[in-house]
Amino acid sequence: ESSSASAPDPDAPPPFRVHVTGSARTEGYYKISHAEKSAYVAQYASRSTVNEATPEKEQPSQQNVTSSRSNRANARRRAQGLEEINQVHLAMALSKGESAATDLFKFNQLQTRKKHLRFARSPIHDWGLYAMERIMRGEMVIEYVGEIIRAQVADKREKAYERQGIGSSYLFRIDEDLVVDATKKGNLGRLINHSCEPNCTARIITINGEKKIVIYAKQDIELGSEITYDYHFPIEQDKIPCLCGSAKCRGFLN
Ligand SMILES: [Zn+2]
Repeated sequence: ESSSASAPDPDAPPPFRVHVTGSARTEGYYKISHAEKSAYVAQYASRSTVNEATPEKEQPSQQNVTSSRSNRANARRRAQGLEEINQVHLAMALSKGESAATDLFKFNQLQTRKKHLRFARSPIHDWGLYAMERIMRGEMVIEYVGEIIRAQVADKREKAYERQGIGSSYLFRIDEDLVVDATKKGNLGRLINHSCEPNCTARIITINGEKKIVIYAKQDIELGSEITYDYHFPIEQDKIPCLCGSAKCRGFLN
């Protein structure tokens, strides 16, 4: 039997189909079975012999498939686990109310959908900023936009503004070194008046390594209410009277 397998039988029919039309070119399409192909295509021959000779080889390859599938499932579970952890972190951060992640999240939100605000005359001082929608406690109201400058530059500008008759109240100190000057490059944020009992608070946050001043709602703010925060001016000899009108008014801004 082994000799007949190695040496082809001379009486067996040729492996190639005899073309009826006399030429493969004019024969058209016809299906050739794998068994037929295995007679002259080396790939098919080797495949069928492997399958027949070592059927147990199928087993380990199947195991490979299942293990890679379960690996993928595990990876998905791990990713889901991470997602859950992230949500827990976000929830924790939200409960604390101050985290870089939530700051960034809220700041981005503020960029895409600005709060509806309007400036109008204020009984506190000159112009004020008013909420034209309800704002929930903890929400960012507006960024105090301005030019970030060094403290020394701010001191020089303050004197120059005084000489020009421009008030220095648009200078907002971030820390010992930096000041935001909203005098020339500002937004509506600079119109927010001081109150000794304010509905907002100003906070310094860091977005992509850049310090920003953001006004947050300390409490729910009703439509039409004036937006205020405590300027926290240092106490000085030259007093600025406060007209905030709140029960807790300190009488002076500084
Ligand atoms: Zn006051």
